[in-house]
Amino acid sequence: GKPESLPMRDINFLTENNAKPIWHPMAHPAEMRATPPKIIMKGEGVSVTDAEGRTVLDAVGGLWNVNLGYSCDPIKQAMAAQLDALPYYSGFRGTSTGPSIELAYELTEWFAPEGMVRAFFTSGGSDSVETALRLARQYWKIRGQGDRTKFLALKKGYHGTHFGGASVNGNANFRRNYEPLLPGVFHTPAPWTYRNPFDETDPAKLAKLCARAIEEEIAFQGADTIAAFIMEPVLGAGGVIVPHESFMPMVRAICHRHDILLIADEVVTGFGRTGAWAGSRLSGVKPDFMTIAKAITSGYFPLGATLIGAKVADVFEADKTSFGAIGHGYTYSGHPVGCAAGLAALAETKRLALNENAAARGVELGKALEALKAKHQLVGDVRYQGLMAALELVSDRAAKKPADKKTMAAVADAAYGAGVMLRVSGNTVILSPPLVISATDVAKIAEGLDVGLAAAAAA
Ligand code: PLP
Repeated sequence: GKPESLPMRDINFLTENNAKPIWHPMAHPAEMRATPPKIIMKGEGVSVTDAEGRTVLDAVGGLWNVNLGYSCDPIKQAMAAQLDALPYYSGFRGTSTGPSIELAYELTEWFAPEGMVRAFFTSGGSDSVETALRLARQYWKIRGQGDRTKFLALKKGYHGTHFGGASVNGNANFRRNYEPLLPGVFHTPAPWTYRNPFDETDPAKLAKLCARAIEEEIAFQGADTIAAFIMEPVLGAGGVIVPHESFMPMVRAICHRHDILLIADEVVTGFGRTGAWAGSRLSGVKPDFMTIAKAITSGYFPLGATLIGAKVADVFEADKTSFGAIGHGYTYSGHPVGCAAGLAALAETKRLALNENAAARGVELGKALEALKAKHQLVGDVRYQGLMAALELVSDRAAKKPADKKTMAAVADAAYGAGVMLRVSGNTVILSPPLVISATDVAKIAEGLDVGLAAAAAA
């Protein structure tokens, strides 16, 4: 029979069962039971409403993905129409669907840096990273250089949670419990001015030192054993680490010199978040693979893609060996409803020139964050690029001692009380609001942070 009450249980049921039958990603189950999470019931514009009826401005933008806010009718209508016409069909050999062809065309035609010529669809960011890593290895097998299997990545980088992605991840918290990970993965220092092994605070000098460390690692491993280098143009989950503009071009040049493929992980930085359509475009870099997800549908449907550069595509498409067929893919690769959502999201993103709004609002947000740093001792460092930003909180500025969990919770709780949803990750507050926010919204986010920081300091 019809599960009549399933989507209609009342608030009491939800509260009663909150964090009981469900385990949450990136959280300790016992902690979630002890401190149940907020239940989000509704979204409108750039705000969400919880089960207790409190409406807050979503400075997290879902999870760096709801770029168009919660009321984007063109996406909702496109999805509904596609559900009506064809809710699903497979993209495996033999069949394809209209929206997937059209979205691949749009992505390669104008969104990505020039030279990204093919799209392979996935169900999300981790899938996109996995796809890039696997296709990178396959590329070398086709070219008869099967020894090129290793991957290089940056410490503090985040590349999702599949075994491949977790292996290239540069944060111990996401690795340790799942070891042993993929062998043959090596990490070099991130160009993070606030904390780095070189004690270098000048961004341009630090970028050079980090580039040199990559060269040294390549020499040590042997270039002919390395398949690819993966990096985020701006490191997101690692705490919004913004490399100097010279860094990615230097990485590109190093990869060229040693014939190593470059994977730009743009799961967060794609679709205007940094102020450019793609993070690689900030510094004019053309990667060999680009991984995207999140804002591709503004979060309205789980979808991702791996974009493939001409150099790689040519080798696959001209292949006459037994290595060229792609033995990789997902049931939902090219999902027609997801791709319809993606087409509408892309059209809206372009129509509203969200890259420009991210750049303009980002400047305002950056100014506000600098003012908060000047006012609150708790703020050790602020980092931002477009509409991705972080405040790193410390209990002692001179020693750069990370603020504790209680302090971080106090900031987020007080800000929530003041009407602003923040996200805490370790000792950083991460901001990634919808790209459609206004100057007034930016001011409100800054006010919420101000209230949060004052409350935490007083506690
Ligand atoms: N790559 C980057 C740069 C990310 O920030 C993320 C998620 O935050 C991922 C990959 C993984 O994406 P997903 O969570 O959709 O699997």
